[in-house]
Amino acid sequence: MSDKLRYDGKVAVVSGAGNGLGKTYALLLASRGAKVVVNDLGGSTHGEGADTKAADAVVEEIKKAGGEATANYDSVEHGDKIIKTALDAYGRVDIVINNAGILRDVAFHKMTQKDWDLIYTVHMVGTYSLCKAAWETMRKQKYGRIINVASAAGLYGNFGQANYSAMKLGILGLTKTLAREGASKNIKVNCIAPLAGSRMTATVMPEEMLEALRPEFVAPVVAYLAHEQCEDSGQILELGAGWIAALRWQRAKGGFLPFGDSSPEAVAGVWDAVMNFDDEPEYPETTQDSFPPVMGNLERYKEAA
Ligand code: NAD
Repeated sequence: MSDKLRYDGKVAVVSGAGNGLGKTYALLLASRGAKVVVNDLGGSTHGEGADTKAADAVVEEIKKAGGEATANYDSVEHGDKIIKTALDAYGRVDIVINNAGILRDVAFHKMTQKDWDLIYTVHMVGTYSLCKAAWETMRKQKYGRIINVASAAGLYGNFGQANYSAMKLGILGLTKTLAREGASKNIKVNCIAPLAGSRMTATVMPEEMLEALRPEFVAPVVAYLAHEQCEDSGQILELGAGWIAALRWQRAKGGFLPFGDSSPEAVAGVWDAVMNFDDEPEYPETTQDSFPPVMGNLERYKEAA
């Protein structure tokens, strides 16, 4: 058993920490010494309304247990205000958990501009905005841990969630690039795709499953990613109910068009190879990894010319 992971002296900002998963992240980090900014707008699952009660209740719970916490009620697209709360109260920001979220589930043909815009604003702009507002401080500190929140819906697609899945996969792209840009300043940026019972999943899960899939299974993974001991960055983890696994890209070895034939029929001729993941698949991790087959084939064309 390793030493207990602590967060003494560290300041964590948890967005959407008034309910569900975010609340468990805030409570766990605070119980292990972190000073926590509990952000929550306090609206509905569909992104309507606002209330200070959700954030206040979690701050109170943390304080009662002997921890330190400050509430912030801004919507996540105002990341600068949320980070200011942390800087004003505690003078630094070490951990940002971009957890706030809403749903506007509806089949794409019925989706309104509002359904799209609200999901874009809360998930995509919200995650960007908090990262952006904390970034300079983390660079100066030469320390930062950011945990972003994707979803299986984004990784795989899900009926009725075109808006949500687009943003959730966008958040993974942001994560992977920030991991690269933060590397030299010891800023680690990772992403999770959790499964847990919450008011958000209450509409799609039976009661028994809601209770069994406790958010407390997810919180320790987020806490581990938020700790200085965690050296990984740019990762996406799927998790729930005590199961945790990293996910990566797999690319088929692919097919090459015959020299001199760029017709759609030639594409049809190599399609089996294009779609074949069984024969020597590759696992590219960088844009550099992604180029060699293209460049290699270009060379073959040059030589053949
Ligand atoms: P939840 O509804 O219980 O909690 C979300 C919290 O975010 C709420 O307290 C809400 O008030 C807050 N919030 C919403 N919009 C906000 C805004 N604009 N600014 C600040 N706070 C805001 O939901 P949850 O299940 O705990 O979800 C947490 C995160 O995990 C979300 O990003 C969600 O998309 C993601 N997620 C959850 C699951 C799951 O199984 N529960 C699965 C995949 C992804």
